Amino acid sequence: MELNSSVNQIPLVGPSKELLLENLGIKTIRDFLFHIPFKYRDTSNVISISKLKELREGTVIVTVEKIENVYTRFRKVFTRAKVSDSSGSITVIWFNQKYLVNVINAGDTYIFEGKLSKKNNDFVSPTFEKFSGDLNDQNHIGKIIPYYNETAGLSSKWIRSRLAFLKKNLPNLIKEDIPNEILNNHNLLSLKDALTYIHFPDDIPQIQKARERFAFDEMLGVSIKIQRQVNIFQKKDAIGIPIMRKELVSFIKSLPYELTNDQAVAYSEILESMEKTVPMNRLLNGDVGSGKTVVSAIAMYNAYLNGHSSVILAPTTILASQHYNTLNSLFEKVGIKVELRTSNNKVEFITEPQIIVSTHALLYDTHEIHNLGLLIVDEQHRFGVKQREQLMKGRSDGFFPHYLMMSATPIPHTLTNIIFGDMEVSFLRELPPHRIPIQSHYVPFSKREDCFNWIKERIISSNLIEQAFIIFPLIDESEKIDIKAATKEYETLRKSHFKDLSVGILHGQLKNEEKEQVLMDFKAKKYNILISTTVVEVGIDIPDATIMVIEDAQRFGLAQLHQLRGRVGRGKMQSYCFVISGEKEIESSNERLKYFASHSSGFEVADFDLIKRGPGEVYGTKQSGIPNFKVASITDIELLIKTRDITKKIKDLDGLKAVLFF
Ligand code: ADP
Ligand code: MG
Repeated sequence: MELNSSVNQIPLVGPSKELLLENLGIKTIRDFLFHIPFKYRDTSNVISISKLKELREGTVIVTVEKIENVYTRFRKVFTRAKVSDSSGSITVIWFNQKYLVNVINAGDTYIFEGKLSKKNNDFVSPTFEKFSGDLNDQNHIGKIIPYYNETAGLSSKWIRSRLAFLKKNLPNLIKEDIPNEILNNHNLLSLKDALTYIHFPDDIPQIQKARERFAFDEMLGVSIKIQRQVNIFQKKDAIGIPIMRKELVSFIKSLPYELTNDQAVAYSEILESMEKTVPMNRLLNGDVGSGKTVVSAIAMYNAYLNGHSSVILAPTTILASQHYNTLNSLFEKVGIKVELRTSNNKVEFITEPQIIVSTHALLYDTHEIHNLGLLIVDEQHRFGVKQREQLMKGRSDGFFPHYLMMSATPIPHTLTNIIFGDMEVSFLRELPPHRIPIQSHYVPFSKREDCFNWIKERIISSNLIEQAFIIFPLIDESEKIDIKAATKEYETLRKSHFKDLSVGILHGQLKNEEKEQVLMDFKAKKYNILISTTVVEVGIDIPDATIMVIEDAQRFGLAQLHQLRGRVGRGKMQSYCFVISGEKEIESSNERLKYFASHSSGFEVADFDLIKRGPGEVYGTKQSGIPNFKVASITDIELLIKTRDITKKIKDLDGLKAVLFF
């Protein structure tokens, strides 16, 4: 048995339990061990029955005198027991659990934990476990008991019993990946101890120490990820080629609109960095629709005037061709033809400066490009290890191109400095003017049907011009089940509310080409409505899509909701975003959704999540860019700084395989 072994290696985990575990996102032994309790109850203080009657709740060790099922006149059944210890006796009642008479034996000793009823002072539905004679051997009561996220058919009690089995195997399973020196310096538990304490704590301080270790690992993981991005051109003594600022007035005048203030500042900052011999390493951070493309275009144009080629990399073919179209129309007036490189479109390299749009996947040997001066990566968080390595190589003559990373992840301002450390950041905070603000609405689950009817009417009355997205949350861990849910919803909606319209479906199970085809078809109006999981690309531009519906919206972080909202509001028509809460409404998540609906700035909503999200709170969905912590909190700036400093000292980041479980 290893960390990556299937859970079916655990005794008593058969096919049906395996499926249930998968519902909780638990597939491997590792997943199981890192299924962290969300709360604890201290049942370690054993009291007498007479004390229980006084305190009205607590843990007792008792002998069962008698147990029987009692049938009432209304054909209800309950189970009644009489239990006692040296201080006295009390009546215990359970409802609808007839089988208990076969589980609890008269004459045996048990440990019970629970409360007395207000009505007749009975001990009602206490949890119980057979008493082993020694409190230390109890699994469920008599100590600090962890509670886990459960699913029908999988109780915390069962989860604990399986963890008790794994606990015995911890020494073989867990290898410490973080050097002892770091653990000692930061007063951290070993991973083995942390896992033992988080599931089987003797006292509260143990839980706290264990959580510290997990939070450390999570934050370290984030720091490593970030450091890798920052590292790309931070090779010591990497030398870039200064690219001087040329006369740009006529080009900027030729643009179809006036630049916003932020855009003007951003391109100046970029051009200034590029004049240096240290290669630029800059992040252009701007909300969706803030106009990053044109800023990058100015930098590419300036490089071109200096005899340098530029490459801009997009995560998908559809986004690459979008950039290609945009850039071509911007450069048309100055007589530059942009090249597009995709899997079925080769580029001919010439010994003159070129402007090339390509997909991340096709990041080829940049050596072939004539005098590469500027490399731009859109949405780098989707970048793989291979691509990173490719970038780190630099040019064949040893020089490094200037590097600009563009991201729409609204990173809270207070964090950018810490997160991106040495990387310079330019912000686009304002959106271009004359855009009609998106109207956002919070829709309680009870109004969901009304919302769909409204959408149908709206699309029909626009003569089928306007289009809508309906998004289903995709939970990281159990993709298959979610896709089933989306597919089922698709079948239902297609035949009911939207039976007069054409509906498409998009999800992660489709191949890349199939996904792109669906999106192209949607853009070409083959569908009025697209039902999708969150695979809808960041940055996709479908001007007639005016409606964005997000179901089960509480499962998203606000930053991600905001990115989804950015898929609409790109054209000249009024756009709408509806966030529908799930069937089970929770007060605190509604507050978040209402805040989201009444605020349009991505930076604002990201800050709200930062403040409101309690430590360890998980939204359970993939978030782009911003980490999805189980234990750590992104607001724990101290820890972030600590791990960042550690990361900086580690030379071989890839060699450090800390157990990163996010
Ligand atoms: P993103 O930052 O999300 O990449 P884009 O570069 O795709 O944004 O720009 C979004 C839209 O805004 C495009 O249609 C673009 O033409 C338009 N745009 C960009 N800058 C301006 C501006 N200063 N004034 C008006 N429209 C602009
Ligand atoms: Mg973009």
